[in-house]
Amino acid sequence: MKLYITILLLCCLNLHMPLQAQVFEDFFVDKSMRFDYFRCGNSESESIYFDKIKEEPYWGGSKTNLIDKFDYGNHRFRIIDAESGTLIYSRGYCSLFKEWQATEEAQNTSKCYAEGIHFPYPQKTVKIALDSRDKNGEWVQQFEYTIQPDSYTIQKFTPVGEPFDVIVNGDSHHSVDIALIAEGYSASERKEFEAACQYFAEQMFTFSPYKENKQKFNIRGIWIASPESGVTIPGKNRWINTALSAKFNTLGSERYQMIDNLQIVKDIAASAPYDIIYVLTNTDKYGGGGIYNFYGISSAQQTSSTGKVYIHEFGHLFAGLGDEYVGGTEMNEFYPLHVEPWEANLTTLTDFDKKEWKKLLKKGTPVPTPAKDSNLDKVGVYEGGGYMQKNIYRPYIHCLMNHFNVDYFCPVCSKAIVDMIDFHCK
Ligand SMILES: [Zn+2]
Repeated sequence: MKLYITILLLCCLNLHMPLQAQVFEDFFVDKSMRFDYFRCGNSESESIYFDKIKEEPYWGGSKTNLIDKFDYGNHRFRIIDAESGTLIYSRGYCSLFKEWQATEEAQNTSKCYAEGIHFPYPQKTVKIALDSRDKNGEWVQQFEYTIQPDSYTIQKFTPVGEPFDVIVNGDSHHSVDIALIAEGYSASERKEFEAACQYFAEQMFTFSPYKENKQKFNIRGIWIASPESGVTIPGKNRWINTALSAKFNTLGSERYQMIDNLQIVKDIAASAPYDIIYVLTNTDKYGGGGIYNFYGISSAQQTSSTGKVYIHEFGHLFAGLGDEYVGGTEMNEFYPLHVEPWEANLTTLTDFDKKEWKKLLKKGTPVPTPAKDSNLDKVGVYEGGGYMQKNIYRPYIHCLMNHFNVDYFCPVCSKAIVDMIDFHCK
């Protein structure tokens, strides 16, 4: 029996180790392909329209973990080798469109958002499939397109941003590469942006679990001058001509500072190898946002809680963490109560068994768990989260995904962050 297990293990090693190492080189080359499209619709419908394909100079992601293992996000894309039908790359993500769908405006009108995804550049003909979750949380394919990687229609371009190192610890394929992009800094304000990038890095690594994993991160600033200094605040009728057209009052929320057009952001990010995009805006007005595997953004010149804002938004952007607070949004019932949220730190208790979170509950913990002082340091299932008072639950009484009165992530959020760091660094 022992011998059998040894042989079996050896077989597995022989089969899997070289295969994993070969897959990237068998199907991809070390640069990126960008697929741009429009996501259009209203509160009830969603359609994808093709826009263009671009070739980007760098691939900053893993060459080993090609298939997404987390199943986070409201959308995902799959790259399929056309000849064999093999899935060769996939990633989940979220979008501003999905948030907009939950607004009142989306009940009365249809709208398009320009989006783009990027993946390692395929060697041979591939199919790209775009999927979204339906109202029951099940994946439904929205769109399919065949790409010939040698087609003359694929746009070659030189990204216009100027990258510089903030912290570079290792090879891009084995690191989390963060691109910090300048927004609202005029040509004479480059020094201020460079200082903001340094501050971002300092702040990020003062919080666990980032500080213990600092060596696994690369942070690069990407400089782009805006024609004018400052940011747009429509609610104050203040309109500034900036590189990315970021603006407050997104989706009717005064502090929600976002960028409608992801393609412009990705055009600048492509100046360096990157996994994650975070935009630093030249304003002291509190606000920002982060969307899973899409982009994050917040005010760089704001003086209070800046570091906590950075890592809170980074929690959404990087690990797909949900907000653990109640209220604070204009969105109508963002989480349907008959569906288990895909976020690691929220549950409706419809399918709690599949959550990693459940493994962190001590034996005998009541579910739901009463939010009393003696439970402050206990992982439980506490009612209130995902903007709702009732029927949605969070893992810990306090957490940086809930509010800024504490300076720690709860054990469930911490584990989700560490798992994602490890996934990027293989
Ligand atoms: Zn948490």
